[in-house]
Amino acid sequence: MIIPAILTIVACVIAGFLLGRSLVIPLRFVTSRVRESLASGNFSVRIPVRSREKEVQDLVTVVNQMLERNAALAKQLRTTFDNVAHDLRTPVTRLRAAAEVALQDPADLEACREALADCLEESERVLQILNSLMDVAEAESGSMRLRISETEIGDLVDDVIDMYREVAEEKEVLITNRVPHSLACPADEIRLRQALGNLLDNAIKYNRRGGWVTFEAEVKDNEVIISVSDSGAGVAEGETEKIWERLYRSERSRSEKGLGLGLSFVKAIAEAHGGRAWVTSMVNEGSTFYVSLPAR
Ligand code: ADP
Repeated sequence: MIIPAILTIVACVIAGFLLGRSLVIPLRFVTSRVRESLASGNFSVRIPVRSREKEVQDLVTVVNQMLERNAALAKQLRTTFDNVAHDLRTPVTRLRAAAEVALQDPADLEACREALADCLEESERVLQILNSLMDVAEAESGSMRLRISETEIGDLVDDVIDMYREVAEEKEVLITNRVPHSLACPADEIRLRQALGNLLDNAIKYNRRGGWVTFEAEVKDNEVIISVSDSGAGVAEGETEKIWERLYRSERSRSEKGLGLGLSFVKAIAEAHGGRAWVTSMVNEGSTFYVSLPAR
């Protein structure tokens, strides 16, 4: 009687020990790899699945996903720094050059005045870059305060079109507002105007001479969906997600002026309202950018 009981206890202890080992060893391995990655800042480390235990496998999958996300964030941060440094260097170098010119002959008042005007223009550009970056950061962090009021979308689109009339005429782009004038929803007018302004700016900038841009809007499933279609260059299939990232600019659009902040701002504004932003596009045929806002 006693011997079988002792045998059972021994078997239980051995089974417990083996089970413990099969969990503890892989967990120690995971911990050491994560520690290594943290210490070296090398987020390209991935942990191989070395256990048959489902729980350990799940843990390894989640940790690998976290490492991947960290790697993507670190890369985005590096790219952001590079791009900001690059974008700020040009106006700051010009600013310095203008000041140097003025200092060469302070008696030449005309040259000094011209240099000051150049300085003003370049510092304006630096400020614009910094303000845009701060606007996007504020909107993305969720700390942007919205002044929500019932907003007539058609009227707001008219205002936006007015702002860009000259630029559009210069490029002979025809802009049409097909938003029903009775359509309204709660929105921050200033922010929504900025967001639609960015979309129109792009729709003209990446359009062909003599092209068109059309604004439309409809209510669908409790959302007001505003669309801006254009007959422009289109967005390559592999880029329809990336273009919403901060400072992302496609290779093809490098010849146009821009900071790569416009769309990330549009997306952040839409999301700050509880809405969304997305695009459908065909290369060389055109794009339709959408912003949706909760109807109530
Ligand atoms: P920017 O225009 O300053 O480059 P954005 O964030 O506004 O920055 O846009 C990011 C990229 O998306 C652009 O560089 C361009 O490649 C692409 N893009 C945006 N709008 C359009 C459009 N209407 N047609 C084609 N490409 C577009």
